[in-house]
Amino acid sequence: MTDRIFSVAIDGPAGAGKSTIARRAAKELGFIYMDTGAFYRTVAYAALSRGADPGDQAAVEQCLASMTVTPQWDADGVQHMLLDGLDVSTAIRSPQVSQSASVVASYAAVRDFLLDSQRRVAQSYAVIMDGRDIGTVVLPNADVKIYLTASAEVRAKRRWLELQQKQAPDTYEQVLSEMIERDRRDMNREVAPLRQAEDAVLIDSSDLSLEQSIQAVVQVISEAISS
Ligand code: C5P
Repeated sequence: MTDRIFSVAIDGPAGAGKSTIARRAAKELGFIYMDTGAFYRTVAYAALSRGADPGDQAAVEQCLASMTVTPQWDADGVQHMLLDGLDVSTAIRSPQVSQSASVVASYAAVRDFLLDSQRRVAQSYAVIMDGRDIGTVVLPNADVKIYLTASAEVRAKRRWLELQQKQAPDTYEQVLSEMIERDRRDMNREVAPLRQAEDAVLIDSSDLSLEQSIQAVVQVISEAISS
């Protein structure tokens, strides 16, 4: 173990179960869990609610100048996102915000705007952070790096079932094609594209239950802590 505060980076494509798995693993191990996708979602939501087209880079950059994005954790360890002091945690979960988040996330200015606040958390707390570029850019010296993935069909099926529970009208085919589109954008952008860090452990959860995936992640982290 190093002198630094222990940090875990979990990256992977949309719908791989990163947030559910990371949240549960963090609880089991006594770490803070931080979802960095929520930061990009908050910027996208801010742009949309100010009438800016997420595809208009200059307009989004202009919004950044007058925006504060802050994570906050409640007593149960649940992360909330504050936009200019207002809690937008529920509003940032819509499918429109999902797509717009991956558009604004391709702008270097947006990534720079969010980077320091993400790194600062790892300087102060033992953290499990999930996203797309945690092991490659945000925490390149993380003590543990995990790349969590599953086939596009399995990920879309899980996301679709989640949406069904919320009575959302989306069809499986819609969810699958939006997911593939988002992955394509995330993997092919010029700045901090989604990729597996060379020193990351690969976990493919296609054939694992949620509990098995959590235990696989906990085991990798526990082994690193005790080595
Ligand atoms: O993880 P989630 O689906 O909430 O992320 C929303 C979007 O934010 C992703 O599709 C991706 O474009 C972007 N993102 C990113 N880097 C991260 C986390 C999320 O580019 N570290």
